[in-house]
Amino acid sequence: MEKFIDLHMHSTRSDGSFSPKDVVAHALSVGVSIISLTDHDSVAGVAEATAAGDEVGIGVVPGVELSAQVGKKDVHILGYFIDPEQDDFKAYLKKFQDARVERAEKIVEKLNKMGVRIQMAQVMAKAGGAAIGRPHIADVLVEEEAVFSANEAFYKYLGYGKPAYQPKYTMSPAEAIEVIHASGGLASLAHPILYSQDDLIPQLAKVGLDALEVMHIKHDAKSVKKYSQAAEQNGLLKTGGSDCHGDGRGDAVMGQVKVPVEFLEAMKDKLKK
Ligand code: AMP
Ligand code: FE
Ligand code: FE
Ligand code: ZN
Repeated sequence: MEKFIDLHMHSTRSDGSFSPKDVVAHALSVGVSIISLTDHDSVAGVAEATAAGDEVGIGVVPGVELSAQVGKKDVHILGYFIDPEQDDFKAYLKKFQDARVERAEKIVEKLNKMGVRIQMAQVMAKAGGAAIGRPHIADVLVEEEAVFSANEAFYKYLGYGKPAYQPKYTMSPAEAIEVIHASGGLASLAHPILYSQDDLIPQLAKVGLDALEVMHIKHDAKSVKKYSQAAEQNGLLKTGGSDCHGDGRGDAVMGQVKVPVEFLEAMKDKLKK
């Protein structure tokens, strides 16, 4: 069987439903040989995933997914081979995580003003120490029967332009790239298809972006081809992954995006230089 890897996935340390250990177990069950755990604004699961990977022979690349803002758009920058123990990096992540808590408080206030009665304590409990995101609020809304599904929660309240929408702490993609570089990592622009703004690719290439996520669950064959060409034209490496969030809100999609191990080898070559 051909070996393939998956460089984009989430655990309970952000908005995924599998613990870091279960992420590794799932990778093993679907035939992925090397993963990167890329929780939103958190590296808290990397050590657990690495230890679990060592036991069963799955390679774990330390990763993270940082949120940046371009205008009103949320642009995600993946970081690979970052040092999860580095103090500056940890301080940065702490700042983002604190900002997420403040933002969640504002969202809860907005919901309360609209007569949707949920409490911040419920949201904190749902996140269980993970980086708080709108999916946790959506889960509480479902539990409280304010909506039927997380999707409806986003559509009615939490999504961009909806009444309880609250922007996140803003950082430019250039800053996110800098943070990743400062901790020894490589930066890749996540799921470009979601931004409908392809000129972001040359723009970010100029400020030090290393790679482009050409393979992703939302990229069909045509998009993979298009973004592979964009990567080549802009001197970027290629990355790819499923963006699996576990099976809590839909299916676990790990294993559905078959990323070749060559992508990772090219990344390691660049780091050696
Ligand atoms: P946040 O980090 O708080 O901005 O939340 C972003 C996360 O919300 C994404 O990573 C998705 O997992 C989730 N999300 C975004 N839009 C939707 C939607 N329409 N339905 C369900 N989940 C969504
Ligand atoms: Fe997510
Ligand atoms: Fe993302
Ligand atoms: Zn993701």
